Amino acid sequence: MAGRAAPGAQPSAIGQALLAIGDQWTLLILQRAFLLRVRRFADWRDELGVSESVLANRLKELVAGGLLSPSPYREEGRTRTEYLLTEQARELWPLLVAVWSWERAWVPRRAGLPELIHETCGERTDVEIGCTSCGLAPVTARDTVTERGAATFAQVAVPRLHRKTVRVKGEDDPLSYFPETFELLGDRWGTVLLAAALLGVQRFVDLQSGLGVAPSVLSSRLRRFTELGVLTAGGGQGRRSSYRLTDKGIAFFDVFAFLVDWAQRWYTGPPGTDLRIVHRACGEPFRPYLRCRSCGKALERTSVTFAVAGAGGLIQRLPRRDVEGAAATG
Ligand SMILES: [Zn+2]
Ligand SMILES: [Zn+2]
Repeated sequence: MAGRAAPGAQPSAIGQALLAIGDQWTLLILQRAFLLRVRRFADWRDELGVSESVLANRLKELVAGGLLSPSPYREEGRTRTEYLLTEQARELWPLLVAVWSWERAWVPRRAGLPELIHETCGERTDVEIGCTSCGLAPVTARDTVTERGAATFAQVAVPRLHRKTVRVKGEDDPLSYFPETFELLGDRWGTVLLAAALLGVQRFVDLQSGLGVAPSVLSSRLRRFTELGVLTAGGGQGRRSSYRLTDKGIAFFDVFAFLVDWAQRWYTGPPGTDLRIVHRACGEPFRPYLRCRSCGKALERTSVTFAVAGAGGLIQRLPRRDVEGAAATG
């Protein structure tokens, strides 16, 4: 996949991570695997309403990228394939929970999002992030410094393999979140613009030279980010204008921090192309962890359940196509 990047600018670790997961269908496939333990072609197809050719293509990429592992099983006398999350993919779960939390807080929608239940304390709750090195929580963007190497943002800004946003099942499906997240993560320039903004770059001219992007492309992204309420115009006109992150934009830091952390554990970019996030309080590279806002304990993947509000406000835990459950009884 790295071969698709512009010649001479091998993607940074984050660029490679975005190539692997910065696509709406890809993240939805992974999300359903986490939430509902979907692992079979027909179940993803029915669950997402995605065309078979698109689904087949994304599954192939996920296997090639080391995020899904094909595994044969027998059904009605035939051998079929199911797809299991690899260790690398399983480490994405805090990122997906951070996406859920951000969209819950900041993106208005008709259908409510599923609720997160922390089984350890039994509460319906939300999450915050803390620092793995020193244990301090919560940590926000303002408690960290983001630094970048000498490399250009172009090494983060890899052209994506697929067009960015697709309509999924409509707004009434509580599980199909991500529309705004995809404006930020699923677009070549969207993510670097966000990264640059988190690094404190504010002026149009500085963004343009830093990103090496055409002024018209930058203008259109800035307009879109302003419409989304992620950036706000800070004054000035044209090339002298400046932009800064809103609270909504700053809050996306949690997702960004997990993305950077995951990317740096699983991909290697050319020297000097890494972004470094440092926790000011302890001076260590920031390795985020999720914790429960109700009880303050660290969240484990297995201690989290999502549930949707049903008729009369009853909470229904999401049904899982649970092979593990079947194994436990048999
Ligand atoms: Zn720390
Ligand atoms: Zn809790």
